[in-house]
Amino acid sequence: MKYYSTNNKNTRATFKEAVFQSLPVDGGLYMPTSIPRLDSLFLSHLAQYSLPEIGFEVAKSFVGNEIPQKDLRAIVEDAVDFPVPLRFLDHGQAVLELFHGPSYAFKDFGARFMSRVMSFFNESDRLLDVLVATSGDTGGAVALGFLGVPGIRVTILYPKGKVSPIQELQLTTHGNNIRALAVEGTFDDCQAMVKKAFNDQELSSRLRLTSANSINIARLLPQTFYYFYALGQLQSQGIRDVVFSVPSGNFGNLAAGLLAKKMGLPVHHFVAATNANDTVSNYLRNGIFTPKSSVQTLSNAMDVGNPSNWLRVMDLFTNNRDDIGQEMTAYSFTDRETLSVMRQLATEHHYMACPHTAVGWLAGQAYKRDYPGTYALVSLATAHASKFPDVYPPDMVHRITQPSGISDLEKAAKHADDMPNEYEIFKKFLLDHH
Ligand SMILES: *Cc1c(COP(=O)(O)O)cnc(C)c1O
Repeated sequence: MKYYSTNNKNTRATFKEAVFQSLPVDGGLYMPTSIPRLDSLFLSHLAQYSLPEIGFEVAKSFVGNEIPQKDLRAIVEDAVDFPVPLRFLDHGQAVLELFHGPSYAFKDFGARFMSRVMSFFNESDRLLDVLVATSGDTGGAVALGFLGVPGIRVTILYPKGKVSPIQELQLTTHGNNIRALAVEGTFDDCQAMVKKAFNDQELSSRLRLTSANSINIARLLPQTFYYFYALGQLQSQGIRDVVFSVPSGNFGNLAAGLLAKKMGLPVHHFVAATNANDTVSNYLRNGIFTPKSSVQTLSNAMDVGNPSNWLRVMDLFTNNRDDIGQEMTAYSFTDRETLSVMRQLATEHHYMACPHTAVGWLAGQAYKRDYPGTYALVSLATAHASKFPDVYPPDMVHRITQPSGISDLEKAAKHADDMPNEYEIFKKFLLDHH
């Protein structure tokens, strides 16, 4: 399979090139030149396959012969080695829990697959330096994905004092081949430093740099796996008509769902669930895509005013808004509504949802109200509630069960180097600590 840039469909990159370059030089995003249609017998018997088996079938159609099948199978088995339970909270209404990986957020799917693919391709005996700017969840998943991988070193830049205490522990307690820089600035400043490093001729002649940002094609593909897997779970219960509600920020998760549908995933409709960052719902309503600066909300991993992966959604539908509207409906919610449904889920369904998952549930309810039907509604649950104790009202927080992986973090030693928001100092750090 070859990949083109959404900015120029005549460009061609191999899967390996697309993974290491992350972003095409023209500023577009990589997309596959054709979308493989999965075998119809496979699609009607999804329940017979495990998550890694499904992942392998999907991945091989995108990777082609660039990774031998035996190695690809091992990569997928290792990357998605955690459960993905589908839990019905009410008649016809379920959550698909994507947060049972090591970082307790669905970012593990993308980060773990990408890190294993990168280490497979990384034959060179020169150290590969992976730079990643994070606003919270991505850094932790990427760090765990690369922890202990020989020949690869990860440098995480995060905005000092602007990530949650648990997220900070997930960034700063690894040691080994992972190092963390606490930048005196915002997430945008971190991202700007990383981008500048890539365009720095002197740096790229002395170091082998790559990035683990969220638009890497190797992070998108594994996010299709769980849509097929969930369909299998539903098929085994005789359920054929399904709507997914997807908590969305940068729109990678939803882009993957739409891609899965183009591959033959038998799903009725998608609901895009957003917080106050409503660029996409505005676009679907009035046809004008107006990126904004992000607004801070309780569902902080969805605070994106200019969602990068929307380019991919547009590309999948050749920029036709009506066609996109046929496949998805978008809703946006306030923090007040989010908190209120978190309380409702806890009292009525004994379910502790993270704020992102709560927005997804809200959007699912709104869709059901506007378009009633007999379909099963599946809300994606994107993070474990215990990552966001500060968001919960004090009378509820004790009901969250903290997984041991998070309690253990609180005992680990933290280490981050302070970094002023000055590119030259960052550059000197990279060169001196080589
Ligand atoms: C990243 C993230 C999202 C948003 O996913 P996108 O693919 O960026 O739309 C939602 N919930 C959680 C917990 C996240 O970490």
